[in-house]
Amino acid sequence: MRKVYMDNNATTRTRPEVVEAMLPYFSEIYGNASSIHQFGRSARTAVDQARQSIVSLLDASSPEEIIFTSGGTEADNLAIKGVVAALRSKGNHIITSSIEHHAVLNTCKFLEKERCRVTYVNVDGYGFVNLEEIKRAITDKTILITIMHANNEVGTIEPIEEIGSIAKERGVYFHTDAVQSTGKIPLDLKKMNIDLLSLSGHKLYGPKGVGALYIRKGTKITPQMLGGHHEMGKRAGTENVPGIVGLGLACELAQKEIAVDSKKLTELRDYFYKGITSKIEDVRLNGHPTSRLPNTLNVGFKYLEGESIILNLDMEGIGVSTGSACTSGSLEPSHVLTAMGVDPAETQGSVRFSLGRDNTKEDVDYVLAVLPPIIKRLRDMSPLFEKGK
Ligand SMILES: *Cc1c(COP(=O)(O)O)cnc(C)c1O
Repeated sequence: MRKVYMDNNATTRTRPEVVEAMLPYFSEIYGNASSIHQFGRSARTAVDQARQSIVSLLDASSPEEIIFTSGGTEADNLAIKGVVAALRSKGNHIITSSIEHHAVLNTCKFLEKERCRVTYVNVDGYGFVNLEEIKRAITDKTILITIMHANNEVGTIEPIEEIGSIAKERGVYFHTDAVQSTGKIPLDLKKMNIDLLSLSGHKLYGPKGVGALYIRKGTKITPQMLGGHHEMGKRAGTENVPGIVGLGLACELAQKEIAVDSKKLTELRDYFYKGITSKIEDVRLNGHPTSRLPNTLNVGFKYLEGESIILNLDMEGIGVSTGSACTSGSLEPSHVLTAMGVDPAETQGSVRFSLGRDNTKEDVDYVLAVLPPIIKRLRDMSPLFEKGK
């Protein structure tokens, strides 16, 4: 059976050349990057080089601005908890949005129990955060605005340049979770006034379990992981050298290929959606039609349950999801689609196809052949479909 993976927003396949580059760091080059002998120095050189690749991709000012972490989740935790701890004397108010990843949302929920106040800004039907609400929410106690660059479920790209200038004007730090967007769409730290930015290896064809937090020079932050003096004293723990090497190369390759990949994926995605709408009735596109990640296609199939579509596609060798990998299985309606005001009946039947650089037109054609009969069969069984007619 043909196998088609279209769940690249959950994770991507590590590129073979990235795996290749990592291998020596599990075997011959095994030194601790903090050791001063030659074994350690070889590892340190590799870590420094990877850091430089991230500096280059992000166009950061210096390597000291990049802190390696265990992934996007830790980067988000460090950014938010670290700023809250550092700015305790200034204030305790955070502004975020209702459609953030749970790495941000649950960190904010935790901090609410720790005497922080959090404003969850609403989004419109496309998933764009309300800029006026952000402006109105800022008080002299506000210390951080944290809004994602691109949403993982629907792909909507947030107006982070506008948010950055609001934050700058009011003297508030701005953090963005750019885990889905790094290396996929252009980003300008300086123009967007970003103080902190999270990224993750496994979302950009690198390994799992490694990520980074960009911290603009001069930004006050308190470390959350305590121990040795690793990562400029901002994140203790022996560096994951193989992972960091993989992340560095993934960033380097992404930087080279961003334009070509995003054009190819946009075309493939739009061809895919055109195919869906020509073969299946009563579908809706979730997210913004154009201001959206090139690879992301979230489609609502009216009268149906996303889970049953996914299971049926799985039986045909196709891997997709309902949205967030971290909430699927919980059967709760997506917090993102709910916040966008999508009708609960349509939220239930939403499926996220997230394409990747390995996907071909043949993959899409295969799904376009398999999907319509599945939808028809499920709708024939759906009591909602009867009522809808
Ligand atoms: C995947 C993801 C994360 C978490 O990153 P991990 O490296 O898996 O911890 C955070 N934010 C967004 C938007 C994501 O898509």
